[in-house]
Amino acid sequence: ALYFPAPHSFTGEDVLELHAHGSPIVLDRLLRRACELGARPARAGEFSERAFLNGKLDLAQAEAVADLIAARSEAQVRAAQRSLDGEFSQRVAALTRSVVRLRVELEAAIDFAEDASEGASRDTLARLFADAAAQLEALLAATRRGVRLTEGLHAVLIGEPNVGKSSLLNALAGSDRAIVTAVPGTTRDVLRESVAFDGVELTLADTAGLRESADVVEEEGIRRARAELARADIVLRVVDREVAANDLFAGAPAAATRILIVNKIDLAGASPRCDERDGVVTIALSARTGAGLDLLRAALRRIALGGETDGVFSARARHVQALERAGRHLAAAASAGRALATPELVAEELRDVQQALGEITGVFSTEDLLSAIFSTFCIGK
Ligand code: GDP
Repeated sequence: ALYFPAPHSFTGEDVLELHAHGSPIVLDRLLRRACELGARPARAGEFSERAFLNGKLDLAQAEAVADLIAARSEAQVRAAQRSLDGEFSQRVAALTRSVVRLRVELEAAIDFAEDASEGASRDTLARLFADAAAQLEALLAATRRGVRLTEGLHAVLIGEPNVGKSSLLNALAGSDRAIVTAVPGTTRDVLRESVAFDGVELTLADTAGLRESADVVEEEGIRRARAELARADIVLRVVDREVAANDLFAGAPAAATRILIVNKIDLAGASPRCDERDGVVTIALSARTGAGLDLLRAALRRIALGGETDGVFSARARHVQALERAGRHLAAAASAGRALATPELVAEELRDVQQALGEITGVFSTEDLLSAIFSTFCIGK
């Protein structure tokens, strides 16, 4: 039995830890007895929630606990650890301090509006606005990278039947999950496979060839394939010979990165290569022999993280949304001239900026938000 008196425990409360031998029966009896004596099982995320409520962790750090548990690659672990250590929170705090300075300066400018110091105050405000905007932009970019790393990128394989999509999926995943066959149209369902390499995690969806079909089952496969395609970050279009059609990426989202894969180079006796033309990366490889797979992995890694995972902290879509909201209010506030002309309105915008930032670390939070966050945790965390 290990006793952690408050506040020196993970939750900040008195904690008694009972360690027992690992037999499920022994553990079950221990649990039962504890419950008989008045204990109850923890709700999902309850330990982290209590740690948050007792000020041991802020909200971004508590979320990093869940990210750490869900991490599937080395880079995700390192990123979650950085957020848990407070790197992300510290950057939000630094930005908040800049916003507070702006608010103070603005109050001073309002008080001395008639004063000779107006010129100086205008310069100071202009500089503070520029600093805060630059800080926010940098933080937003870093947070977006964090989300991409935390969530992993969604890559989709498309192409006619038999060009080797399933073989490529298997080669990347290093497993035999997708069925490889020479009969056209057998990949009817969308197979999902998570592939982690070089610290990057990609979800691959091997889809039915996107073609018209009279077959009902295949129709369904095609419908799912289109849905997968619509939410892809990276579209891998597979062909098995050089082609020059320009509708190869039809249906791909405008923002998705396009990679054209020329498979089966072993049949043509060609060498692997990777080049980029008109925004499309073309990689020639062989899913069967593995030649050129390293080029594909390197390209995916480059796309996923701009090549680097150093310094990336874990982050979530809600953090990006809060920062974007902060950015909109800052932009609406941001001009020294406007600040002096309508100081009350600008002061209001700055309050909103601070509010949005506070939602990230949980200075401002609602019960709905907390339950949405902590209910996704596992029990006992
Ligand atoms: P899919 O319908 O696009 O998923 O294609 P499959 O992965 O099922 O492959 C179709 C056929 O092409 C199979 O017989 C594979 O063994 C073969 N194949 C796939 N990749 C290569 C390759 O790089 N070289 C050669 N020679 N054959 C390949």
